Amino acid sequence: MRFFAIGFGQAGGKILDLFMENEKLRGTNTLKALAVNTARTDLMGLKHIPPKNRILIGQTTVKGHGVGTDNKLGAKVAQEEIETILNAIDEMGTHEVDAFLIIAGLGGGTGSGGSPVLAKYLSEMYSEPVYCVGVLPAPEEGKLYSLNAARSMITLLKYVDNLILVDNGAWKFEGLSLKESYAKINEEIVRRLAILARAGEPVEENLVGEMVVDSSEVINTLRGGGISSIGYATLPVQEKKKTGLFGLFKKKETELVTAEEDKSTKIATLVRKAALGRLTIPCNISSAERALVLVAGPPEYLDRKGLEKAKLWLEEQIAGVEVRAGDYPTRRTKHVAALVVLANVTEIPRVKQLQKLAAEAREEVEEAEKVRIEKTISLFDEEDLEPLF
Ligand code: GDP
Repeated sequence: MRFFAIGFGQAGGKILDLFMENEKLRGTNTLKALAVNTARTDLMGLKHIPPKNRILIGQTTVKGHGVGTDNKLGAKVAQEEIETILNAIDEMGTHEVDAFLIIAGLGGGTGSGGSPVLAKYLSEMYSEPVYCVGVLPAPEEGKLYSLNAARSMITLLKYVDNLILVDNGAWKFEGLSLKESYAKINEEIVRRLAILARAGEPVEENLVGEMVVDSSEVINTLRGGGISSIGYATLPVQEKKKTGLFGLFKKKETELVTAEEDKSTKIATLVRKAALGRLTIPCNISSAERALVLVAGPPEYLDRKGLEKAKLWLEEQIAGVEVRAGDYPTRRTKHVAALVVLANVTEIPRVKQLQKLAAEAREEVEEAEKVRIEKTISLFDEEDLEPLF
């Protein structure tokens, strides 16, 4: 799955930078990465996205200092400079791209406001699907962040083919503050995106997948413009014991050969763990319209029967009946990883809660403004002065 990814704003840029590092370490160069921001320092902090693929927008308005938490200004700046962004995308080349992936924190200003603008134009100009990975604010960040995220989500859903949500609140790590958790949360996001990016990509030399999932199946799973959540679980593979000088004679005893039945149960259990464990956004799995399972790991641990079992199980769990499953053999890992994409889920308590907080925040802002205007006017009540003009 070849992504053209755009990291919009601070969170988006950092997550994409890590994704880029991950792909470089794997030796794959299929990911196209562009960072867009209104804050110069955020762009300068990136390490793996080449400087020529970083765009500073809004220079005339905010002079490289960012838009703060004003996502209306974020949207305005993105709209004013949409040509610059689209030209950069075009120049980097889009002919081999399977999908666009906008990554952004939805509670802030630049990414929250800019992402829906970019999604609108990309969906109009290109036939490839446009996805957004949207990071939701944690409750402790306050109502303004909720209001921003709720407004951004509503707008994004008008234009994207799918909105994959990540809830910072649900992912904050024990004993760490939210800020300290960012690096770990970003790693978790990138682990999932990296597996998704393997779908349909050529496998390493001399390896063959048992069941191949190609990019069109990812696209079919994510179609429809809804919200998705991703589950993930890993299992360390047992290392073969070193056999030493007499290894040849002892081979049968020491080599850990996994029985076929055991292997398929392990895969099915791992997929179940991924679907029922911590999702990028907690949701009711039975409200998912479709699902996609991708298992990656050393070929001797992958198993067709196990995947089929997992597929049947998932079909019973979700609302719809479309479950796609495939695997990706790789020797570059000591883990078997299972990814479960729950597509177009409708029961997401955090989104409902955000809507409520956002409505409250809007009322409070309007009320505060009314009071402020009244109080300001009353300051001049006593004097019967005429304005200058
Ligand atoms: P922008 O630069 O104006 O788009 O604003 P940010 O990207 O900083 O968006 C603010 C939101 O993103 C807040 O809800 C933050 O909690 C969240 N955020 C900021 N940086 C990170 C990060 O590195 N990782 C994650 N997961 N969230 C982040």
